[in-house]
Amino acid sequence: MSTKTPQAIRGTQDIFGAEAEAFAHVVETFERVRKLYRFRRVEMPVFEKTEVFSRSIGETTDVVSKEMYSFEDRGGDSLTLRPEFTAGIARAFLTNGWQQHAPLKVATHGPLFRYERPQKGRYRQFHQIDAEIIGAGEPQADVELLVMADQLLKELGISDGVTLMLNTLGDGESREAWRAALVDYFRAVQGELSEDSQDRLEKNPLRILDSKDPRDKAFVGDAPKIDDFLSAEAQDFFGKVTSGLDAAGVEWTRAPSLVRGLDYYRHTAFEFVTDRLGAQGTVLGGGRYDGLMESLGGAPTPAVGWAAGIERLAMLVSDGGSVPADKLEAAVLVENDEGLPAAIKLLSGLRAAGVSAEIVASGSPKKRYDKAVKLGPQAILRVNETGYYGFSVDGENPRLDAFIKSLV
Ligand code: ATP
Ligand code: MG
Repeated sequence: MSTKTPQAIRGTQDIFGAEAEAFAHVVETFERVRKLYRFRRVEMPVFEKTEVFSRSIGETTDVVSKEMYSFEDRGGDSLTLRPEFTAGIARAFLTNGWQQHAPLKVATHGPLFRYERPQKGRYRQFHQIDAEIIGAGEPQADVELLVMADQLLKELGISDGVTLMLNTLGDGESREAWRAALVDYFRAVQGELSEDSQDRLEKNPLRILDSKDPRDKAFVGDAPKIDDFLSAEAQDFFGKVTSGLDAAGVEWTRAPSLVRGLDYYRHTAFEFVTDRLGAQGTVLGGGRYDGLMESLGGAPTPAVGWAAGIERLAMLVSDGGSVPADKLEAAVLVENDEGLPAAIKLLSGLRAAGVSAEIVASGSPKKRYDKAVKLGPQAILRVNETGYYGFSVDGENPRLDAFIKSLV
């Protein structure tokens, strides 16, 4: 047997220390904000039948064609580690009869898996927070989700330098007309496009607009714009989204070439982008996906949602955002072994009262004192064989004060 320690898989992360605190802060803030907007929590399976993703996200997308972790399980079924949340939530909506709860506002977070080239801000196992409104066709649902995203970024202290880029892809009819114009336009320069985009030209020309290849980017600026093809209905829908954002005081920028990397979007598409993360600039993205439920065999069901990479949010939080200080409130200093039972009792009393506490109970008396100081507590509570007998405090702490008063 080898005595060498196995290495972690490339593109996975072991998150620890300040990074882990920033990560947890993103999740905690999301949990708080989603409750303000009354999104219900859901927990989803990490793997699904492969068709859940291939039928909804689209066979020609990067995610399905190159990035999925798919495997055959022992029973011979093709399974896939989820590359996103939306498809699984849509599957659950259909298979569990969640229609009865429509319009359904749900939120979740957890790990996702994509076979991508690992680099800063891009991993093979990464994590997202996710929010969806299913069964709501009104632009107000889009507005609600965007306002929630905006509030989240503000509460994380990272909204400076982050811009909401907003577009509409129109309804089915507008999208088809735009698509045809894009095919004409890109066909004229076909030979100069990347290989991937030459391929997309037939299957899904909108995706060329989302290409990261500089050969394609050169032509994207002058490509036909959706605005020339929007039906009156689609224009009206988009107008209601933007006026809702204005009313809520959410700043946005029109991005006429913005499409999302997945096939299922209609009407609203958006990304919150920053220039502080290099090429990995999209921190939160989403849109309306009215066609998705049908691709999974369900009745037509309008829906809209977004997802954000927790790692990218946490990186922004770490440089310039606000992670609340995590200061120890009470250190219980046990001066001798006879004092230990009293100290344990005191310690559990403190924690039950909501005061964070650590015990120092080993080493020489001098070492113990030094250890307690090193923990940087607000208060050191001293215990000896006669029990608790005194403390020293540094700063204000009403909860701790109340607890100490209750002891005498
Ligand atoms: P990108 O254009 O960066 O590849 P995407 O369009 O594939 O993003 P989505 O599928 O919309 O991304 O996922 C939403 C968010 O999830 C992204 O904006 C990003 O914050 C995060 N994300 C996506 N892929 C990764 C990854 N491999 N590692 C870390 N975060 C990721
Ligand atoms: Mg991607």
